[in-house]
Amino acid sequence: MDFTSELNFGAKLPEVILCKFGEVVLKGANRQSFEALLIKELRRRASRYGVFKIYVKQSTVFIEPESAECDMEGMYSAARHVFGIVGVNRAAVCDKTMESIIKTVKEYLPSRLLGKRTFKVDAKRADKRFPLTSPEISREVGGVILGLVRGLRVDVHSPDVTVTVEVRDEHAYVRSGQESGAGGLPPRSSGRGLLLLSGGIDSPVAGCMMAKRGMEIEALHFESFPYTSERALEKVMTLAEEMCEFTGKMYVHTISLTHIQEEIRDRCDEDYFTLLLRVFMMRLAERCAGEYKCSALITGESLGQVASQTLAAISVTDSVVDMPVFRPCIGLDKNEIVIEARRYGTFDTAILPYEDCCTVFTPRHPKTQPKREGVMAELAKLDVEALLDEAYATLKTEIKSIYN
Ligand code: ATP
Ligand code: MG
Repeated sequence: MDFTSELNFGAKLPEVILCKFGEVVLKGANRQSFEALLIKELRRRASRYGVFKIYVKQSTVFIEPESAECDMEGMYSAARHVFGIVGVNRAAVCDKTMESIIKTVKEYLPSRLLGKRTFKVDAKRADKRFPLTSPEISREVGGVILGLVRGLRVDVHSPDVTVTVEVRDEHAYVRSGQESGAGGLPPRSSGRGLLLLSGGIDSPVAGCMMAKRGMEIEALHFESFPYTSERALEKVMTLAEEMCEFTGKMYVHTISLTHIQEEIRDRCDEDYFTLLLRVFMMRLAERCAGEYKCSALITGESLGQVASQTLAAISVTDSVVDMPVFRPCIGLDKNEIVIEARRYGTFDTAILPYEDCCTVFTPRHPKTQPKREGVMAELAKLDVEALLDEAYATLKTEIKSIYN
């Protein structure tokens, strides 16, 4: 049975999803392992949407449904969330004859060209034995489209939509337009990082940005019951679930800072409260990263956004840990971070008005130009190691995942 008839589900045209690699193509000798990571990720996601055959051929990932029950919309959307892929589209599959290509163009394209004013045809002939050249295919298909949709004009320079006809080794593919993919590098190609995940707008974005560069992300959240509520914790868990659309799966660790915060409140200079808390967060995060084999910490800090994010404050919190701290939002304005949060689908949850441990016992006059010695002198009023041990013992872990 040939491929086309295998995929011919009743009246529906046989369709595939095609994905284009991003930077993976630049990776020389590593290319194969990068491709393997991408394929693995797509296969893990695909199991939710049916049985698909997924493979790489001629620099493109092919996702072919193996039965009529496959949820193509779901799979298409899933592919758009996989880092490492820059472009995704659906294409009709047909035999490698002009007759079959034109029949497919007539059936497949009209609904996809609705509302467009201009188009061009881009033909690609990978199989040089095909009797027509690429310009000849373009011309012929262009003529057919002009007769199909009233009012549509050709514009080869900036068309509303590009129709692509590709003649490959075994089949021809007809598609219109291409939607952008998530970009970046394939999941799990750049090591593992521990994200300090608050309930705010910035940290989920920071995590997604590092996942985009191929990092596997685990999250650590600090709560402070009863000063922070159950609902605040649920909000963070929802954010983690939303991030999983991009990260796939995430361990979410939670540590209680309650006693540490009370000790700081009772024994230290109020102006240092936030900074001291951040020192404890960084030290606990480093410990958690060590246990869960994460090689970097990630925060949502943005330079100058609040008192604890001035250069002087960041220098202090950076100095208490011994591993790289990534702050991908550092040079972004709040409105730029908001745009990213909307793109990653975390914004609506992030703005729900629940408290964070950072907003418990906030100083009236936080230090914006702290000196390391000043912070250390305040820390010396506390039994730091015992407090760290006690807090770390409260660590709990949940797994969030979009895989089946
Ligand atoms: P966000 O929007 O990410 O909450 P923010 O602008 O509110 O950031 P801060 O509250 O000062 O800034 O926190 C700075 C960073 O510290 C956060 O981006 C996050 O990485 C980390 N952080 C803050 N609170 C927590 C928390 N409760 N649990 C884990 N990490 C936290
Ligand atoms: Mg916050």
